Amino acid sequence: MDTNLLDKLKQTIKGDVLTDDQTLTTYSHDASLFEVKPQVVVNPKDTEDLKALVKFVSENKKNNPSFSLTARSAGTDMSGGAINDSIIVAFQKYFNHISVNKDIATTEPGVFYKDFERKTLKNNLIFPSYPASREICAIGGIVNNNAGGEKSLEYGKTEQYVKKVKVVLSDGNEYVLKPLSYEELNEKIKQKNFEGEIYAKMYKLITENHDEIQKAKPHVSKNSAGYYLWNVWNKDKQIFDLTKLWVGAQGTLGLLTQADIQLVPLRKHHEMMVIFLHDLSHLGEIVEKVLPFKPESFESYDDNTLKLALRFFPEFAKLLGTKGIIKTAFVFIPEFFIVLFGGMPKLILQIDFAGDDLSKLDQKILKLKEKLKFLHPKIRVAIEDKGKKYWLIRRESFNLLRQKIHDKHTAPFIDDTVVNPRYLQDFLPKLNSVLAKYPSLIYTVAGHVGNGNFHIIPLMDTKNKLQQNIIPSLSKEIYTLVKKYHGSITGEHNDGLIRTPYLTQMYGEKMVSLFEQTKKIFDPQNIFNPRKKVFGDLNFAMNHIRQNW
Ligand SMILES: Cc1cc2nc3c(=O)[nH]c(=O)nc-3n(C[C@H](O)[C@H](O)[C@H](O)COP(=O)(O)OP(=O)(O)OC[C@H]3O[C@@H](n4cnc5c(N)ncnc54)[C@H](O)[C@@H]3O)c2cc1C
Repeated sequence: MDTNLLDKLKQTIKGDVLTDDQTLTTYSHDASLFEVKPQVVVNPKDTEDLKALVKFVSENKKNNPSFSLTARSAGTDMSGGAINDSIIVAFQKYFNHISVNKDIATTEPGVFYKDFERKTLKNNLIFPSYPASREICAIGGIVNNNAGGEKSLEYGKTEQYVKKVKVVLSDGNEYVLKPLSYEELNEKIKQKNFEGEIYAKMYKLITENHDEIQKAKPHVSKNSAGYYLWNVWNKDKQIFDLTKLWVGAQGTLGLLTQADIQLVPLRKHHEMMVIFLHDLSHLGEIVEKVLPFKPESFESYDDNTLKLALRFFPEFAKLLGTKGIIKTAFVFIPEFFIVLFGGMPKLILQIDFAGDDLSKLDQKILKLKEKLKFLHPKIRVAIEDKGKKYWLIRRESFNLLRQKIHDKHTAPFIDDTVVNPRYLQDFLPKLNSVLAKYPSLIYTVAGHVGNGNFHIIPLMDTKNKLQQNIIPSLSKEIYTLVKKYHGSITGEHNDGLIRTPYLTQMYGEKMVSLFEQTKKIFDPQNIFNPRKKVFGDLNFAMNHIRQNW
């Protein structure tokens, strides 16, 4: 950015305007496969700063068409959602206030999830859609990615818990989005201003294209791909709710300043059943038998993930908080025996039941064991905290891969596919044969098997052109397969730089044109987070594959 404009920007806001090399390098990365260097990073002090920023970009956009604003909270996005080449708006430093009133948390986007939870637990309440990155991510990204997690099987995703948001839109003003009755919607539409226009145009777009939108809906329980046009207008209840569109829009429609989040009571007890599966041929059958028991979560990870846990055993010991390696080794003895005598299992399934009555949980586990008996699977049952080690492997394996492997790097690009779990038996072998065509790829698979949502994370030498070339071809093949099962290319990690170019493949041109119209209604000058959600650019993505780790 030229010095005149930079000076102008510094005079425009009270917060920090940073252009030093170290800051720009830090903000060139999120947890994705990409690096994109911004021109400036700003820490806005308050909403007035955000309004001024939007006006600044809007006024200067004509002479500087590449000017844009990309919001960032904790920067753990895996799709490249939180990086861009113009101005990064960082929320962590000043937007970090939270209050809890009964079962609603009113929070700013920069609040880290771990601090948020510490606060809600004081009232014995929890936000049940926290992601596996719970130790490192913040609310801004949870809301704007429509994050999901281990409890989403029972509780659904973030979209169900965001009751109201405050946002700064492209006209530089702050607005509240919340569910509106039909009368309230009509009042908004009558307003002859930017807000009124948004309501009028979105209502028209959604109602006139109702059939097309419904037809395009993937047959899955989790979806973060594209704009969420499905639940905005509830015809039966006559409720029009733009928060449903906002959640998961990756900051492409504006900047979130505050969110009201519904909390749920914390369950008293947990019991976990762990199944060591040596043969995947019965997976579909197992899933079908497990789901009617309504577990709170049903997660899985593969043999490579387990090997990783064994390889980085001391790190897991530290994370588990057990004093001393010997003591931790003791905790893992049953698993060592299972591997020793039965061989490395192909998949580990962990089924977690939660409730306030321990005896009811016991009964459920007994009944489920009985149902699965004919398969002779190796089963272990872990009560309360004893399940901690399995959770740790499930949650931390990707993070450990990111931190510990130095010659290759985690390359999330097919990291979040979803198909209805009833197809898994058929889908997984086909997925494996596609992956087998790329023998140079080492990867781990973990995920939310109960939702049919799998995280495939390859390790790659990102400087190697041959390895880079795998990215577009493998993505296309996997997404073609996912489409055959009416699945989604992303259940929770969202589109970002890596998946936006594949939205046409998933939804078709008509639906993508509705996404583009949605973007234009909210952000006609393309101020917010360009190349994400709409107008994706695979060449831009491929030219920005991360080289500096
Ligand atoms: C180890 C690991 C495990 C993960 N596991 C999961 C998982 O289980 N489930 C899951 O859903 N995700 C997961 N993720 C991805 C990511 O951590 C989550 O989606 C998380 O919610 C992002 O939060 P964040 O604060 O880091 O967001 P950021 O990376 O800062 O931003 C995410 C997106 O939201 C937008 N955004 C951020 N703040 C605002 C704002 N104030 N206004 C408008 N837009 C904004 C950004 O522009 C970006 O597009 C994982 C990532 C890692 C590294």
